[in-house]
Amino acid sequence: MATAVPDEPVVIPAPAAEGRQYLVYEGPRSDITYPMKVLYCGECSMPLEFCEYYPNYEKCKKWLETNLPDQFEKLKADGEDGETGDAEKKRQKRGGKGQVKAKKKAEPQGVNLGYIKRGKKKSTIITGLSTYEIDLKEASQFFSKKFSCGSSVVAEDEISVQGDKRDDLFDILCEKWPQIDEDGIDDIGEVKR
Ligand SMILES: [Zn+2]
Repeated sequence: MATAVPDEPVVIPAPAAEGRQYLVYEGPRSDITYPMKVLYCGECSMPLEFCEYYPNYEKCKKWLETNLPDQFEKLKADGEDGETGDAEKKRQKRGGKGQVKAKKKAEPQGVNLGYIKRGKKKSTIITGLSTYEIDLKEASQFFSKKFSCGSSVVAEDEISVQGDKRDDLFDILCEKWPQIDEDGIDDIGEVKR
């Protein structure tokens, strides 16, 4: 027996669709220049906005910093509001600490020599040695012996030596640690604290 074909199309109501938000195409936006230029990341090969989902986001950022410094600055600025910070935390949980905190080898940042005045006494402040992979404790002991005076590691990358030893240090640093170039040493004068 043939099934009766209805004369009119049957409309099946879809209540679930009611009130749903649809993506509305609003046409070209005035804040975008067309054709849109999509920037791709050389590290993960995705458009830049997807980089943060890449497990090796730190590498992406490095690539960005070298190749698209403008974009990198923008990213850094974005990162200062809370949103990206949260994403960072979540990733950290998922990937474990090792992933995000992968220790990047610091490029030598130069050595700064300054001095601090306390009353009539001066002490020399040396910063930046650790970026040359110099053990600060050993360095401090070396200065202490060399100058026969007190020396100590006072902060993460900071050694304090009694007296104003800046002039001597220019030679001594390069001599003791050949990886330090004299041009990489800066006299920053008095450090006010
Ligand atoms: Zn990337």
